[in-house]
Amino acid sequence: MESNFVKTIMEEDLNKGKVNEIVTRFPPEPSAYLHIGHARAIIMNFELANHFSGRTNLRFDDTNPSNEDQSFVDAIIKDIKWLGYEPDKILYGSDYFDINYDLAVKLIKKGLAYVCDLNADQMRDYRGTLTSPGKDSPYRDRSIEENLKLFEEMKAGKYKDGEKTLRAKIDMSSPNMNMRDPVIYRIMHTHHQNTGDKWHIYPMYDFAHPIQDALEGVTHSLCSLEYDDHRVLYDWFVEKCEMEHIPHQYEFGRLNITNTIMSKRYLKALVEAGKVNGFDDQRMPTLAGLKRRGYTKEAIKNFILSTGLSRVNSTVSSEMLENSLRNDLNYKVKRAHAVINPLKVTITNYPEDQIEWIDVPYNPDNEALGSRKIAFGKHLYIDQDDFIEVKPNKKWRRLALDVEVRLMRAYFVKCNEIIKDKDGNIVEILCTYDPETKSGSGFNDRKPNGNIHYVEATTAKKAEFNLFEPLMLDSDSKKDLFERLNPNSWLTMNGFVETDLENTEIGEKFQFIRTGYFATDYDSKKDKLIFNRTVELKSRFK
Ligand code: ATP
Ligand code: MG
Repeated sequence: MESNFVKTIMEEDLNKGKVNEIVTRFPPEPSAYLHIGHARAIIMNFELANHFSGRTNLRFDDTNPSNEDQSFVDAIIKDIKWLGYEPDKILYGSDYFDINYDLAVKLIKKGLAYVCDLNADQMRDYRGTLTSPGKDSPYRDRSIEENLKLFEEMKAGKYKDGEKTLRAKIDMSSPNMNMRDPVIYRIMHTHHQNTGDKWHIYPMYDFAHPIQDALEGVTHSLCSLEYDDHRVLYDWFVEKCEMEHIPHQYEFGRLNITNTIMSKRYLKALVEAGKVNGFDDQRMPTLAGLKRRGYTKEAIKNFILSTGLSRVNSTVSSEMLENSLRNDLNYKVKRAHAVINPLKVTITNYPEDQIEWIDVPYNPDNEALGSRKIAFGKHLYIDQDDFIEVKPNKKWRRLALDVEVRLMRAYFVKCNEIIKDKDGNIVEILCTYDPETKSGSGFNDRKPNGNIHYVEATTAKKAEFNLFEPLMLDSDSKKDLFERLNPNSWLTMNGFVETDLENTEIGEKFQFIRTGYFATDYDSKKDKLIFNRTVELKSRFK
């Protein structure tokens, strides 16, 4: 991996003997599926640790039970495995609830924490603003004994949600708002997926996180930039709780992608409102959605690494991600003939019952993939986009009436007649083929008007093609989420694929010639093939 500021810090820390081993962690809140933004945090944590032969834990930040769900825990574990990473340990913030509690008691005993009866509104008033200092809570000077008693009662479930909090006693006039006596425990009578109904109080992230890092021996605790001004508080808790191991926090810029919503809250809203078919909908920027759509872990990893790691938030073009897939698949995958918008073609001078099987390499740029046979016969399909009644200009390098093209890997065909329905729609075209022009026969003194792909109708397999546009119309996050949804983000086409694809496996990837990169969808079956277009072959942008 290329150098970045965290890598440099790790190198120095190892060289100076400040640490013996690099230990990182990825700490998702199990409140939704992971998205491509999380991939930056995952890949950087694992790659940096791997680079220095260190280790990385997966630690679920499950300190807010009202948001969380076991299904998200399972999905996150699955996605990280899919990316190819094996956490050293899988841990839960809730594993440390007892220790958190003991450390909170320790802070109370040191006179560094107190039980406060201000409600949320009052607390906000007392907190002051960025330009004016806060005021001390009237409960700030409770005795240690009283605090210990009240905190124990909070734990025992004596008080209602929001009635009391435990706060760190730091400095209500600190220029850093996070240091103005932050709440470290709140009352929540909520069932927790790991600890059940044992707890009536839950620690806040700012208090729980540094302690978890310290207990796990995390050396470099990476988080995104918005935690920048929480770092002093992080260090305060580590120091005041007298943690044996001292972890350090480093902040990196978040990744944003154009036309892509990168917030769990919004993604969850789309799922809950039924605007998409779940978190793994092919249009979702979740790892599960990208995987289903046909993205490879290599494409995602290369993309993330190419965006680097710095101390500024960055927005990169969705084109970069698409290109990463094209680069990954170009040599890797089989190419195949698929007609997504079929037009019937009859070769009038070809015998009715005859089928020719033509040997064609799966990928001419990668011989190792071998070859298959594609059929040619009297009844074919081409794509409607490859035919026009009257050739409009020289740039039209496809079929038209009285025009001759090569059918890829097969023969020259010429269109002689068009059959229309009563509404004037073209339903079939009649062509003749020239047997002398078989591909590879060395025939080259007549130049066809282009080279188009086809499938043979009697051997082709019916297929459904899902074509996608961006889920969001623009990147303006100020507008209403549902109004920004692109009404044309999903288009289903019914067409045909060459017979060879009959036994395709779920998740298999192809380049459909002239049409795009596709992947076999999870719902695809032998008698109902379904393919997702992952990306088009070429970028639409200049
Ligand atoms: P969201 O804002 O989407 O709800 P989050 O930060 O609340 O995301 P967490 O589950 O807490 O989600 O994230 C786990 C880790 O992933 C955090 O360290 C967070 O900084 C990182 N992360 C989340 N989104 C991005 C992003 N877009 N770019 C880089 N890192 C991210
Ligand atoms: Mg978060």
